[in-house]
Amino acid sequence: MTVIGIDDTDSRTAGMCTTYAGARLVERVEDAGGRVERALLVRLNPAVEHKTRGNGAVAIHCTLPPDRAFELAEDALSLAVEGERTSPGGVVWSGSLTDLPAAAMNFSRAAIHEELAIADAARIFDRPGFRATGRQKGRGRIGALAAVGAWAAFEAEWDWSYECLSYRPPDRWGTDRVVDEASVFSAAAEAYPTVWDTVDRAAGEAVCVPHTPGPVLYGIRGDEPDAVCAVADAIDGEPVARRQLYVTNQGTDAHLQSAMVSEVVNGGAYRLTATVTVPPETREGGHVFFTVGEESTTGEADLRCVAFEPTKRFRDQVRALRVGDRVTVCGEVGDGTLKLEKFALREPVQAELVTPDCPECGRSMSSAGRAAGYRCRDCGTTAPGRVERPLDRAIEPGWYEVPPRARRHVARPLIRGGFDAPTHPER
Ligand code: ATP
Repeated sequence: MTVIGIDDTDSRTAGMCTTYAGARLVERVEDAGGRVERALLVRLNPAVEHKTRGNGAVAIHCTLPPDRAFELAEDALSLAVEGERTSPGGVVWSGSLTDLPAAAMNFSRAAIHEELAIADAARIFDRPGFRATGRQKGRGRIGALAAVGAWAAFEAEWDWSYECLSYRPPDRWGTDRVVDEASVFSAAAEAYPTVWDTVDRAAGEAVCVPHTPGPVLYGIRGDEPDAVCAVADAIDGEPVARRQLYVTNQGTDAHLQSAMVSEVVNGGAYRLTATVTVPPETREGGHVFFTVGEESTTGEADLRCVAFEPTKRFRDQVRALRVGDRVTVCGEVGDGTLKLEKFALREPVQAELVTPDCPECGRSMSSAGRAAGYRCRDCGTTAPGRVERPLDRAIEPGWYEVPPRARRHVARPLIRGGFDAPTHPER
């Protein structure tokens, strides 16, 4: 087995896409007489500074001899756009996947959650069995190595999904895409829920069609390879120059780590359970903030959470939270704030403490002084303290998520299942 990893071939402004370089690579491998066993698209730590968009890297598992594979890796990197921020890299491993050093698998694990350096990768790709190549600083060797180790590290652990990517001919890159939206919506409806995040029904948006200048015409994601390809086939539009099916950790929540509030650091992505301590507040720009807290043996810790404006209707569910609600929140932490991707309402507060009404005359009672309970000004009746009033909650317990249009590549849509409470999927 030979595994060819590549990364960092694109730029935000000049277009290109590492998945396109991967699709070309698959074709070259086959032209050279190799058999491609699988093409992986691995989403790495979404918080890394140098990412263009979704921090994706590609690995091609094939039967080509390593020398030829290395030539083709270099060839694939020649597709990379020129630019200050583009730093292409490729890593080739030859040998059985079971012989892949544990250090390479650990590197893949770390690349999902941590920020790594080229020197960390070099300690592994300088070993026998690996070859690495890079242009500019060759930073892409980090993602390329992580992609090379991903299958051995996560084959059994991740609930891998599929994406069928359709690409435009190069002479159309940067021009408006011509895709028949009605065909997208009807194919998406037919294949749902096996195929997900093709459209955002509530927003009326075909989210599978990007707006960036790159080569992708549309990308169809789902649980089964045949189903994602069938949806791609059913979409009408401009000519498709090539197509590539990837096995991917998109839609898996691979980035989330379980943690306590006190353990959270900037740059990590977490799943943590705590209690709402500051109620939701909509601030300038439409972003909704609230705070969760947790008491532990080391004291109290709290964490601000935010549902950004582009998460649209998700903010209504966030606004329905109340102080005292027990919740699990998921998302990446930056600047001390967790950017919500989804949350579960575990134990909603069911009652609030209010000033009692007089049991004799029905008027609202007044405080009788500090720790002295309440007293009715009209008839003198007293009451020992505040009373519980049941709350009519506008939200049911369970999981809530951002709509498809605001979903991160790696975030697991609720419709994929595997959650520990009832789900309220967005589609
Ligand atoms: P696209 O999604 O369009 O393919 P991208 O978001 O994947 O673009 P890249 O251009 O590939 O962005 O840039 C990501 C860079 O970060 C690459 O050089 C990659 O090697 C590097 N990288 C990936 N994971 C890590 C990590 N955990 N620590 C440090 N660097 C990383």
